Amino acid sequence: MSEKQKLIPSFSVDHTLIVPGIFTSRVDDVGGNIVTTYDVRVTRPNVEPAIDVAAMHSLEHIIATFLRNNAEWKDEVIYWGPMGCLTGFYLILKGSRAPEEIFDLLLSAFRAVKDSETVPGATAENCGNYLMHNLGMAKWYAARFAQYLEDNRGNSAIFEYPKTERLVTDDGQQFYDS
Ligand SMILES: [Zn+2]
Repeated sequence: MSEKQKLIPSFSVDHTLIVPGIFTSRVDDVGGNIVTTYDVRVTRPNVEPAIDVAAMHSLEHIIATFLRNNAEWKDEVIYWGPMGCLTGFYLILKGSRAPEEIFDLLLSAFRAVKDSETVPGATAENCGNYLMHNLGMAKWYAARFAQYLEDNRGNSAIFEYPKTERLVTDDGQQFYDS
């Protein structure tokens, strides 16, 4: 098994048991540099409504802008973007920190949404669908998730995914969702 294969987890996540939180999705060696992908899960999959798509889009812009301007963290950030299932976001950072180590960063990112007066980059020049934004709903989801994080700071369930065997498709491929 190659070094890279060893880093990619062979488990997948049991979505029926997920609670919102901050989870390590995978750790990769990219040309000798370790990078970690986190799932920042904002809603509980298939149990509560997924995030409104326009609010999701606004949270993508606002929090990406926050993270990439954060003096302490901006050089660590590789990627921030929405999950296709609209239940959360992917965050890719340099290094291999435990989810607990990025708790305060994400809490401050979601808290900061309430101070946004506009959605950055919501113009035809800067966005592929600039009319599809909802700042009010973005603030609602962000405030709710920030409160949830604060209420669960000491709860290990918000940092550790329930694991299951990885799905193999009918034609024998291992299933991935990102
Ligand atoms: Zn956009």
